Amino acid sequence: FSIFRRETGDISGIVAVLHDVTESEKLEREQRSFVSNVSHELRTPLTTIKSYLETLQDGALSQPDLAHDFVSTTLNETNHMIQMVSDILDLSRMDLGRMKPQKEMVNMVAFLSHLVDRFKQVTNSDPTLSFHFETVFPKGQIWSEIDVSKMSQVVDNILTNAVKYSPDGGTVMISLSVTPSQLIIKIADEGMGIPAKDLPKIFDRFYRVDKARTHDAGGTGLGLAITYDIVKLHGGTIGVKSEEGIGTEFAIVLPYTPYTDEGDFENEFDD
Ligand code: ADP
Repeated sequence: FSIFRRETGDISGIVAVLHDVTESEKLEREQRSFVSNVSHELRTPLTTIKSYLETLQDGALSQPDLAHDFVSTTLNETNHMIQMVSDILDLSRMDLGRMKPQKEMVNMVAFLSHLVDRFKQVTNSDPTLSFHFETVFPKGQIWSEIDVSKMSQVVDNILTNAVKYSPDGGTVMISLSVTPSQLIIKIADEGMGIPAKDLPKIFDRFYRVDKARTHDAGGTGLGLAITYDIVKLHGGTIGVKSEEGIGTEFAIVLPYTPYTDEGDFENEFDD
C-alpha cells in the first residue's frame, strides 16, 4: 500500500499494488503446467518404446521384418525425445537469462539468401518434395546486428513449418524490407493455414493445432515458443496472419538503425 497525505496530514489517496502477486502467481501456474506438459509429452514416447521393446522380447525379435519395423519406430521415438529435451533446455536457458545473444553485424540480404538457399537444397533433395521458394529482397546491403546462429534457428523453424504444413508443390515467399526504424522479415506459405481460434496460442509452449498429426511429422510444439523467445531476445516482435486453406504469414520485426558505411564489416555470407 502507498498512502498519500496532504501537507495538512489528511489522507488524499491510497494505492494498493496487487500487480506483483498476480504476476508471480501467473508465473507459478505457468511453471506448474509446463512441468506437467513436459512429463506428459515424454511419457507418450516412452510408453510406445516400452511396448515395442516388450513385444520384441516376447518373440518378435525372431521375425526379422517385424523386428526391423519395431526397432525403427523405437529409434524415431527416441530421436523425438532427444529433440524435445534439447528444445526444453534451450527454453530453460532463455528463461534463466543464461542465453546471451552473441551479436555481430551482418548483411541481412546475404544472410537470408544463404539460409533460403541451404533450406531449398535440403528440402528439394527429398525426391518426394518440390516446393518453390521466392525471395523479395532489397537491392544492396542491409546491415543489422544479430546472433547469427539463433536467428538462423528462427528462420529455419518458420521455413520448416511452412513446408511441413503445406501440400507439396506450394510456394514459400521470403521477404525483407526496412523502414527508418524497423527491419521486417516475412515468410508466407500457401499451406493449410491456422484456425482463427488457435492463432493466439500458436507461440505457447507445446501448443499444436493437431497433436497427433504434428507428432507424426516430428513436431514437439516448442519450435514457435523458442522462435518467439529468440526474437524477443533481439528486442523484436513476431506476429502471424493466417487463413485456413489459403496460407500463413509470419512477420518478424526487429529494431533497425540504417547503416551505410558497410566497408567496416566483413561479410561472411558473400563469397
Ligand atoms: P511443431 O513442432 O508442432 O511444428 P511449432 O511450435 O513449430 O510446433 O508450431 C506450433 C503449431 O502451429 C504446429 O503444431 C502447427 O499446428 C501450427 N503451425 C505452425 N506453423 C504453421 C504453418 N506455417 N501453417 C499451418 N500451421 C502452422
